[in-house]
Amino acid sequence: MTIHHHPSDVTLLRLATGMLGAGPTLVVSVHLEGCGLCRERLARFEALGGAILEEQPPAPLVADFFGRTLARLEVPYPTPVAKPMTWKQPALSIELPHAMRHCDVGPWRWLGPGFKWSKVKIAGSPDAKVMLLKGRAGLHLPGHGHTGMEFMQILSGSLSDARGQYFPGDLDEADDEVDHSPLVGQESDCICLAALEGDTRLHGVLGRLLRPIVGF
Ligand SMILES: [Zn+2]
Repeated sequence: MTIHHHPSDVTLLRLATGMLGAGPTLVVSVHLEGCGLCRERLARFEALGGAILEEQPPAPLVADFFGRTLARLEVPYPTPVAKPMTWKQPALSIELPHAMRHCDVGPWRWLGPGFKWSKVKIAGSPDAKVMLLKGRAGLHLPGHGHTGMEFMQILSGSLSDARGQYFPGDLDEADDEVDHSPLVGQESDCICLAALEGDTRLHGVLGRLLRPIVGF
């Protein structure tokens, strides 16, 4: 397995400095389990972020801080990895990443033709907007945009949109400029773990489908 899509530098730096929410942190943690390159990147951010924070007077982190920190780092892409550990989730009858072992995962629920979701609860973070999504092979997921960041880790199958193709191990970050209708690969159903950030609200067809059911 070769990973082509990784969390951004800003996301890893936010994780390293404790500024990433519980939902996105879970999605990135799943990615980290399978990506040695990003574990290495995170370790460097943790060392660097800690050192910089110690030098700084207490103040809100600003974009310039990230920019200055990122300018010091250069990391090559992509990298091959071994298949990460999984555990069997009884309610869904699928293998889930080790990083999700403490999560309360609900059953599959119908969301639309060929499209299901399962709510993922993170202990101590009841407001985290996290879910598993499952799309049938060859299905176009409903078009949607976001008012904030969406983090999506592919667990099985594949997705593609105008920006590229995403396979197991890949993490996609979509911001408010991305309005997409991802296509599930023909080879198999696709299962992915998705987290919406903060006050993020989906709009478009997916938003209309999800909001009354999921409360997002
Ligand atoms: Zn990575």
